[in-house]
Amino acid sequence: MQFHIVTIFPRILDSYLKESIVYRAQKSKIIEIFAHNLREYSNDKHGKVDDTPYGGGAGMVLRVQPIYDCVKKIKEQIINKNKTRVILFSAKGKKYTQRTAERLAKFDNLILICGRYEGVDERVVKHIADEEISIGEYVLTGGELPALVLIDSITRLIPGVLGNDESAKNESHKKKNYKEHPQYSKPQEFNGWQVPEALVSGNHNEIKKWREEN
Ligand code: SAM
Repeated sequence: MQFHIVTIFPRILDSYLKESIVYRAQKSKIIEIFAHNLREYSNDKHGKVDDTPYGGGAGMVLRVQPIYDCVKKIKEQIINKNKTRVILFSAKGKKYTQRTAERLAKFDNLILICGRYEGVDERVVKHIADEEISIGEYVLTGGELPALVLIDSITRLIPGVLGNDESAKNESHKKKNYKEHPQYSKPQEFNGWQVPEALVSGNHNEIKKWREEN
């Protein structure tokens, strides 16, 4: 699976993408991640990617032209074009959930457009993006954290990524209102705080029952 991140701050992504599970998935070629610097696609002689909003108002808006050219170039490079989805991150978008992650995990290529400043020209929403996604009801400074959230949550769902595929099967949100049981590890007693009896009983039925109840 390929993730293409369209951003004006590609370096922000580095530290997260170069550690742990997402990094190992890249090393084993299960996923590929490409960061595309939007500034390289501006046709403005000063390389500007933003401009003032029509009608006035505070802040700057990401221009449609660099985003159009960048997404076009990415699509030209993609081999299996049919299974491509273009996502725009927006505080106004549809709320991201585990169901969205499962749905998007079925695509071969995800192009992730990260907004900045006051947002992006609405023509990106209307003519370039297939969907607008919000990761929650709050406003972030840019779409880079949402892009990392989406990549991380989708990567976990791809077979072979987690050390034990069972881990993904029983995780919280696998179905509506489902939450995983509490987890404990050694020592059995810490500060007088005990691990529940059922979990140390060695009795598989009792453990299963406790986990279902909790
Ligand atoms: N003026 C916009 C509004 O009121 O909806 C907020 C723009 S925000 C400062 C800049 C960019 O961050 C957005 O274009 C979007 O890409 C990203 N962003 C901010 N909050 C987000 C959220 N909750 N989910 C997804 N993306 C978000």
